[in-house]
Amino acid sequence: MSKQICIVGAGIGGLAAAIRLAAAGHAVTVLEQLDRPGGKMGEVVANTPLGRFRFDTGPSVITLRPVFEDLWRAAGARLEDDVTFAPIDPITRYFWPDGLTLDATADEPAMLERIRAFAPADVDGYRRFLRYAARLHAVVGGPFLYRAQPRLRDLLRLPLTDVLRIDGLRSMSAAIRAHVRDPHLVQLLERFATYNGSSPYQAPATLNVIAHVEMSLGAWYPRGGVFALARAFERLALRLGVDIRYRAQVAEIETKAGRATGVRLLDGTKLPAEAVICNADVTHARRTLLTTGQGAPRLEPSCSGFALLLGAPQTTPALAHHNIFFSRDYPAEFDALFRRGVPPEDPTLYLCITSKTDPEHAPAGAENWFSLVNAPALSEAFDWTREGDGYASRVLAALRARVPGAAKLVPAFESRLTPVSLDAMYGGNRGAIYGFSSNTRAAAFLRPGNRAPDIPGLYFAGGSAHPGGGVPLVTLSGMAAAACALEDLAY
Ligand SMILES: Cc1cc2nc3c(=O)[nH]c(=O)nc-3n(C[C@H](O)[C@H](O)[C@H](O)COP(=O)(O)OP(=O)(O)OC[C@H]3O[C@@H](n4cnc5c(N)ncnc54)[C@H](O)[C@@H]3O)c2cc1C
Repeated sequence: MSKQICIVGAGIGGLAAAIRLAAAGHAVTVLEQLDRPGGKMGEVVANTPLGRFRFDTGPSVITLRPVFEDLWRAAGARLEDDVTFAPIDPITRYFWPDGLTLDATADEPAMLERIRAFAPADVDGYRRFLRYAARLHAVVGGPFLYRAQPRLRDLLRLPLTDVLRIDGLRSMSAAIRAHVRDPHLVQLLERFATYNGSSPYQAPATLNVIAHVEMSLGAWYPRGGVFALARAFERLALRLGVDIRYRAQVAEIETKAGRATGVRLLDGTKLPAEAVICNADVTHARRTLLTTGQGAPRLEPSCSGFALLLGAPQTTPALAHHNIFFSRDYPAEFDALFRRGVPPEDPTLYLCITSKTDPEHAPAGAENWFSLVNAPALSEAFDWTREGDGYASRVLAALRARVPGAAKLVPAFESRLTPVSLDAMYGGNRGAIYGFSSNTRAAAFLRPGNRAPDIPGLYFAGGSAHPGGGVPLVTLSGMAAAACALEDLAY
């Protein structure tokens, strides 16, 4: 029998849950405070005297395409009818301060040849590293990614060989260095810790699984911009009859006798429900949307981000769609982010230019530059209101200094995202962009589950719940939360 279900938030996790639940025949209402779908997967369009620039404002690298195919299949649809995933090759063009550049590719023989050119002694180590990362995927994929969150007793029952293969005792960096020596290659592989907002020097080596996901399985770009994927989620949900209400801020997840019974909107509207899926950050929800139940989890937030959206009035042939300009001292960067709580003085710069693939995203002769650096979660250590302008100038100066051909860059358009604006826009936890960091084993393996343990009828979907942050993982999170709700509603 069809049940009424409310979902707080039209981020990717919330929409994935909505799709699964509507496909199972339930009446689903999604309440979203913004006027668009996608949450952190957003879009900005700027009309300037030079012409129109279009930017994605959140994710730019999409991996694990089969996750999206599975969601569409479960809804009786085909992903390719709603969005075109273009493979991106090179996945990323890396630039180091000593002048080395490298086009990273998931084509293993080609990648090995490129490594041979600057680090011949590491060719075999890189090959072995990829095999190791693939084994990690095989072992952790089931219990930690693709299935419901394991309970502690499930973990304790894992065969000893699997426990050892999870490689949870040493750091990501230590495992990388056990395979390759060249500092460029080490830094390239360490960078994957940032894909879930963590430090390679603290996160368990298990997270080297991310290198397998990108360097063996590949990366994708939804044609038209990553935001096209958010619109595709929205379209599929609407076709299944989901009622999506924008500019609808939930003020409270209501409970009665300890059970979730619906939501109350800021304007006073009450919507009763037999299950509530919360796509808002778990910490934020526990602090502001719930008046009962456990407090917020005591886990370190992932790092945040600082982005400059720049209309570059030039074309830059030396750049690719995704570019990384590494800092000189990677450990210092993570020390700033996670110990000192300040933005790195010499940050690694990420520069995404979707107009390389979709030329209509910038006027002729220009490019849309989305430049992102890792930033610490909000704390008293850094005041973005007072010091944000200075930091923006520093990042712009770094771009001028490091991007070939950009020494005289004067942007035709400039806008920025800071941890403060990210926090305010999405209802976050200190501006974290991936939920919790995985800097400790507890945070990596035991993040909040999809079923609230203390409030029957309440479920969590999104980057701060199992299995974690990043677009494919929050999609899995939405599907896992929906599966928990379906299981409970069947009784
Ligand atoms: C700058 C940046 C770069 C990133 N790069 C990548 C990348 O390259 N690849 C990748 O895979 N991931 C990337 N990510 C991470 C990825 O975007 C997130 O992990 C993912 O989109 C989060 O989805 P979510 O389901 O947790 O929901 P969110 O996106 O957090 O959405 C939650 C939604 O809930 C709404 N909401 C909150 N509270 C309420 C309320 N009270 N009432 C109504 N609505 C509410 C919010 O408005 C929001 O729309 C990036 C993120 C950022 C910000």
